[in-house]
Amino acid sequence: MDEVTLAIIKPDAMRRNLIGKIIGRYEEEGFRIAAMKMKKLSREEAEGFYAEHRGKSFFDELTAFLSSTPVVLMALKGENAVKRNRDIMGATNPAQAADGTIRRTYAKSIGENTIHGSDSVVSAERELGYFFSKTEIYS
Ligand code: GDP
Repeated sequence: MDEVTLAIIKPDAMRRNLIGKIIGRYEEEGFRIAAMKMKKLSREEAEGFYAEHRGKSFFDELTAFLSSTPVVLMALKGENAVKRNRDIMGATNPAQAADGTIRRTYAKSIGENTIHGSDSVVSAERELGYFFSKTEIYS
């Protein structure tokens, strides 16, 4: 069964001209890009997106970072897309991410870790709905 998940190319990757390499990686892995847009998030949008982390020590740093440059928002479609994207991204801390993952390859720190991916089917639905209307996601 196909799933759709949200991926975000984060500001550290945007600054280093890595959009094409990251999208290329997803295409090579067989995902379909079902929706895509580039957007500069406001601080409030970043805070709403990461609401589950409100109150944590890194929340201010996290939301300032995510809203610091435009980001690329993508709906990735494919079999088992949520888990497969998490596997391709690698662990949150790039130092602990497996070889060949996007974070291991490109990320410099846990705070600036290049890529976001929904962590469950339920999160994916909320996160896709946060940025895309249903009619923007190609089926
Ligand atoms: P993810 O699903 O792998 O992105 O990880 P989480 O949902 O747990 O955390 C969201 C984002 O917050 C991560 O991608 C990190 O950039 C950041 N983050 C998580 N834990 C830490 C931490 O201990 N320190 C800092 N600076 N950032 C963190």
